[in-house]
Amino acid sequence: MKAHDGMYIDGAWRPAAGRDRIEVVNPADEQVIAEVPAGTAEDVDAAVRAARAALPGWAAVPAPERAALIEALRDVLVARKGEIVATVTAELGSPLGFSEAVHVGAPIAVASSYASLAASYAFEERLGNSTVLLEPIGVVAAITPWNYPLHQIVAKVAPALAAGCTLVLKPAEDTPLTAQLFAEAVHEAGIPAGVFNLVTGTGPVAGQALAAHEGVDLVSFTGSTAVGRQIGATAGAAVKRVALELGGKSANVILPGADLAKAVAAGVGHVMNNSGQSCNALTRMLVHRDEYEEAVSLAAAAAAKYASGDPTDPGTRLGPVVNAKQRDRVRGYIDKGIKEGARLVAGGPEAPHAQGYFVAPTVFADVTPDMTIAQEEIFGPVLSILRYEDEEDALRIANGTVYGLGGAVWAADEETAAAFARRMDTGQVDINGGRFNVLAPFGGYKQSGVGRELGPHGLAEYLQTKSLQF
Ligand code: NAD
Repeated sequence: MKAHDGMYIDGAWRPAAGRDRIEVVNPADEQVIAEVPAGTAEDVDAAVRAARAALPGWAAVPAPERAALIEALRDVLVARKGEIVATVTAELGSPLGFSEAVHVGAPIAVASSYASLAASYAFEERLGNSTVLLEPIGVVAAITPWNYPLHQIVAKVAPALAAGCTLVLKPAEDTPLTAQLFAEAVHEAGIPAGVFNLVTGTGPVAGQALAAHEGVDLVSFTGSTAVGRQIGATAGAAVKRVALELGGKSANVILPGADLAKAVAAGVGHVMNNSGQSCNALTRMLVHRDEYEEAVSLAAAAAAKYASGDPTDPGTRLGPVVNAKQRDRVRGYIDKGIKEGARLVAGGPEAPHAQGYFVAPTVFADVTPDMTIAQEEIFGPVLSILRYEDEEDALRIANGTVYGLGGAVWAADEETAAAFARRMDTGQVDINGGRFNVLAPFGGYKQSGVGRELGPHGLAEYLQTKSLQF
């Protein structure tokens, strides 16, 4: 695969300060497909300086012109869609159809939404005898994970650009090639030099140097709760703004009267898509005791249809997980589920293929709320089905984790489902299969994070207010 042996800083690809490299591995066949430079504090410093220098100019560009450049960026992503799809599949292992529709389709829609928002957003308002100005926060450190390699980047870069901020991006170690293609797209779109900068590298070296850099005004991080906590502490000590999109353990609540077959099929699909590597995956299915065994059989049958294998094969619905460490972690959770007494009804810890980091689509029944697999984020194709007695019991179970990112409720009618959803401690709830909306705020309650991404709420994260009194 094509890779740049350098960092994109101040509008050009520049040699890295150090000699270390990161190998990029295709998780479907375990072959090294490319190498990228592992950035150091020196590279990070050069990138932050470039972003700082570009800030006054970019912040002064009128919003409609910034909007036009975001639109141009969207157009380049559309034009290079095929290349990006192939790259996401090669470094993440996502089946081609999912890479096209979701991994590349969603960020194109997000970029479009920010082109419109930048053009229409009220960056000034009158309040009594004041004019309130919504100004860019400044230089943004964007630190992203590998699970949605392009979406996580666009969900930070597009609103930051719309707000008038400049950025330094440090993408995940496993998926730097998609990030390099994105940097090419920024360049091709004509976004001025220094506005967007890319430093590839490891979390503990490049990520930490970026999060702690005094030239950064906001750290926007998506990833694990453990690292988020550390970044929050560093940012807090420096009195720096921070946005954290962290883990989840979302509940899919099926109330009596719902279309059980539809709810179970959608729920299984939500967990198996992207090999379960979605922070808002509906990994806990809650079913009333009267419908429980029927739901378990439906879920086991649905999971068995997720044929795993080569992600470039059109028949494949389940690719590998991203790396060996994740595979071992997910299998460890499956072993733990069995040990703690859950009933395995599909899949299991055995490797489904001789090569590649595959995990079989797995379903557990008789999961109780105190089990590890009902509490901790697994980040793999593993569904837990829990039994509830009545609505109050369902609510207690749904709200009974440290997380609160996503969720779903199914009922006979939308009103019943929405009434239940209002009582859930979580940032997003899909009602009777409600679709993803690029304008809806996305982010967590409790330990799932701080702040929101997407739509106007996501844009507000990159703004600070100044009031003028007359
Ligand atoms: P991770 O926290 O290890 O890494 C995320 C990013 O942080 C990577 O770019 C990594 O290099 C960097 N990083 C690691 N250590 C760092 C440090 N000390 N300082 C600065 N940066 C550092 O997470 P991951 O394994 O890449 O992703 C999986 C996790 O992310 C899961 O827990 C998942 O739920 C979570 N996630 C959350 C969301 C969300 O929107 N809430 C989205 C995707 C993933």
